[in-house]
Amino acid sequence: MEQKEFDIVIVGAGVIGHGVAFRLKRTRPKLSVCLLGDPMNSLMASRAAAGMLAPYGECEKGDRFFRFCRESLEKYPRFVEELVSVSGVPVYLSMAGSVMPSLAYADRWDERLKFFREEKIPHEVWTGAQVRRKLPHISPECKEAIWVGEGQVNNRQLHDSLVAASAKLGVEVRASAVTGFVRDGSSVRSAVTDSGEVRGRKFVLAGGSWSTQLGVVLGVTIPMKPIKGQMCRLRVEDDRLEYTVHGILTYIAPWRGGNGFVIGSTMEDRAFDPAVEDHAIRGLIERASVLLPCLRDAPLIEAWTGLRPAAEDLMPIMGKSGVYWNLYYSTGHHRNGILQTPNQADYVAGIVLETVKREIPEFSPSRYRL
Ligand SMILES: Cc1cc2nc3c(=O)[nH]c(=O)nc-3n(C[C@H](O)[C@H](O)[C@H](O)COP(=O)(O)OP(=O)(O)OC[C@H]3O[C@@H](n4cnc5c(N)ncnc54)[C@H](O)[C@@H]3O)c2cc1C
Repeated sequence: MEQKEFDIVIVGAGVIGHGVAFRLKRTRPKLSVCLLGDPMNSLMASRAAAGMLAPYGECEKGDRFFRFCRESLEKYPRFVEELVSVSGVPVYLSMAGSVMPSLAYADRWDERLKFFREEKIPHEVWTGAQVRRKLPHISPECKEAIWVGEGQVNNRQLHDSLVAASAKLGVEVRASAVTGFVRDGSSVRSAVTDSGEVRGRKFVLAGGSWSTQLGVVLGVTIPMKPIKGQMCRLRVEDDRLEYTVHGILTYIAPWRGGNGFVIGSTMEDRAFDPAVEDHAIRGLIERASVLLPCLRDAPLIEAWTGLRPAAEDLMPIMGKSGVYWNLYYSTGHHRNGILQTPNQADYVAGIVLETVKREIPEFSPSRYRL
């Protein structure tokens, strides 16, 4: 019997793949979309992140990447509202903002303020009195703080909500591993999986840190590697902190809602090493406790390792393949894939549906001859 041919086959069950599926189905409900991948593998990225929506804390120059991330932050409240209205699965989102305490930012204070002013980023400098009022549990050593208008999401709830939305929208989700592709000249015909072939008219590769391996079976070289991050979650009462805190080699991401605070994270170039090391976790808690002393004795809920999908130039790889006419990429979102989820969904779905005509050259797969 001839197998069904899907309009679009997406490889990758993280926030990136499900995000693209969501936007495709919301735009063209009649499209048949199949999504391949085990969502449990996203335990190493989409479910391993801290959920900071932090273009201002993360970026240092006002380039195209910064603008893309900023647009994504601006889209977040409406995106989450739309997502939850479809999925029925709530997502914790706070747009209360982030703080950079003077204690951690003394060396970068002027440079950060200059950047925020130049880019017209919503920010305030809080005096000692304001710090005491707005951050009553922060270290008394913190004399001033810069507040920036960023966001915080519980990324596990975001992923749950996206997975539920895919089911509601009729995306066919198969927890299958792709081991190859049937190709014909410059076309991809089907994805070969451990449970059979899946035929498609168009394919989207959203395999996160495993994209390089998918490239091998496509006959292309995707210059990406995983960057390991260890982190942990502590049981802390919600009222201890309303804002995300950027520190030195550490950050504190309040998930609130009784879910505690996430403390992150190491950056390690150690391939797919899944080890969680006591000394690394202790170091994170120690550094975070300097800023928020109540963390020192907070009970540990869990500690884990994640993998950030990083391209050689640290830019995402998004857009149409130059090798296969019906292949598209959305991968390499590195440290900011949760932040980029709404904008990449609009952008990549727009390219696939040919409503976005001009691709962003900095993100183009063609820079790597993909
Ligand atoms: C420690 C840590 C902290 C982070 N903190 C933040 C943060 O605060 N804010 C932020 O914006 N970002 C953060 N990130 C980055 C963010 O988590 C990632 O950029 C994002 O989750 C990438 O999503 P993804 O869907 O591409 O990858 P993944 O979630 O890894 O999904 C990839 C999917 O591809 C599938 N797949 C791969 N190969 C195959 C195959 N052969 N066959 C079938 N399926 C396949 C897997 O099953 C998986 O479902 C953090 C990351 C880490 C590790």
